[in-house]
Amino acid sequence: MDTSPPDPQLSALYQELILDHYRRPRNKGTLDHATHSVSLNNPLCGDEIDLQLRVDGDVIREARFIGGGCSISQAAASMMTQLLKDRSIPQALALADRMSAMMHGDEAAARDKALGELRALAGVAKFPVRIKCALLPWNALTDALKA
Ligand code: ZN
Repeated sequence: MDTSPPDPQLSALYQELILDHYRRPRNKGTLDHATHSVSLNNPLCGDEIDLQLRVDGDVIREARFIGGGCSISQAAASMMTQLLKDRSIPQALALADRMSAMMHGDEAAARDKALGELRALAGVAKFPVRIKCALLPWNALTDALKA
């Protein structure tokens, strides 16, 4: 089976994007008026995420996180918090489903523009032990919204 990326340049670009989010995480910190907060960790890799949301009615106004761990988990959290701003709760849960599908190899999900920069993580689907890293912030999100 050929596991090389279809386009090495695209892959390099995605690597850069992941490292950029890892080094300069967006929305890192705590919220003053959080309505939801969840802490999750991924013991397999040592990743930790504390996710906080400020939900107003049905809409996520702000999302922030603090955490530590590998570049994939932290980049995924940074990208996710960007994408969640001003999404309704059903939209956010639909994105979580889409993200999970992409991480389990769904190629249509990997091309879905709705996932924005998170599509950079599609290649991680080839590394089963890292899938949990990419999904950790999303699992925190669904825990927070369904609690
Ligand atoms: Zn990890």
